[in-house]
Amino acid sequence: MKYNRTFNFSAGPAMMPEPVLEEIRDEVLNYRGSGMSVMEMSHRSKVYQQIIDEAEADLRDLMGIPDNYKVLFIQGGATMQFAAVPWNLMKNGKAVYVETGAWSKKAIEEARKYGEVIVAASSKDKNYSYIPDCSNLDIPDDADYVYICENETIHGTTWSKLPDTKGKILVSDQSSMFLSKPCNVSDYGLIYAGVQKNVGPAGMVVVIIREDLIREDLDPKMPIYMRYDTHSKNGSMYNTPNTWAIYCCGKVFKYLKSIGGLEAMHKRNIEKAQVIYDFLDSSKMFKGTVEKESRSLMNIPFVTGDADLDAEVVAATKAAGYDNLKGHKSVGGLRASVYNAMPKEGAEALVDFLKKFEAEHSK
Ligand SMILES: *Cc1c(COP(=O)(O)O)cnc(C)c1O
Repeated sequence: MKYNRTFNFSAGPAMMPEPVLEEIRDEVLNYRGSGMSVMEMSHRSKVYQQIIDEAEADLRDLMGIPDNYKVLFIQGGATMQFAAVPWNLMKNGKAVYVETGAWSKKAIEEARKYGEVIVAASSKDKNYSYIPDCSNLDIPDDADYVYICENETIHGTTWSKLPDTKGKILVSDQSSMFLSKPCNVSDYGLIYAGVQKNVGPAGMVVVIIREDLIREDLDPKMPIYMRYDTHSKNGSMYNTPNTWAIYCCGKVFKYLKSIGGLEAMHKRNIEKAQVIYDFLDSSKMFKGTVEKESRSLMNIPFVTGDADLDAEVVAATKAAGYDNLKGHKSVGGLRASVYNAMPKEGAEALVDFLKKFEAEHSK
């Protein structure tokens, strides 16, 4: 690969598109004649205002975000949203959560500190290897929202069909699938995504929220930074935002538009993941851990069934220049994260390597 870069299969922070990194490199010392780097720039300057405005406009365009939704750029990662969602959206103090893995579990734990959480469906019985049927959830009339993690990064599951929320608003953690495929924003009340998985550098979350859900009658003890109205009223600049992450993400939004938008990205992601799934389905040594209908296009966990052999494969891949393939300890084995910026050649190279490993080790 150019620049001697590795195929990095990290679950996040993860690869970014090379043309974007090149542009950033070219602008890092002097941004377009401003005489300074974006890193050194006042967030209140005219030149920076244009960067953030363009980033928002491009994201709106890319996702087709309706006018009655606000786009917020907030720090604190996706983790702060585990708390911000219940504090901002629980009016009746009650919400329905679907438990599909480690990240929804964390969200549930945070929400329980604030209100009543009803876990209406769970896939815990099979170590979160599938998405439960959510076509007829038991949803109380006074529930404030229904919450899902739309792609469970650790377990490698994704929703192919959204739950029937029976008229309640849907809240989705899209951190590890954000911008990987077209998204009908009006199906949701709130979408959030930490950007370091599928978009840009760490340290920022994008929140897309329907305007009427932004409240002012909130618990007065609530930290001001956690309130959506704070960010909404101040154009994501109540305090100093993550200026660098916004700048880099803005470039990724433009890049995605240039390659044909989310439809085109989705097509590439399907083709790329298929290379790995086809191999796993034909291999005698390796097998995927997720039920077929729930397989993620972004995170692909797989095992040999033998922990020592798994460790041997991980070490061999690393030695061969494929990085970060060790699976999360709760699943074991290996995990290939193939986000938007992983080229198909990366998936092909990995499969070639695994095929060779299998052939050599099954003699
Ligand atoms: C990584 C991840 C998080 C946590 O993100 P941070 O930005 O590290 O707080 C939350 N949800 C999902 C689905 C993730 O993949």
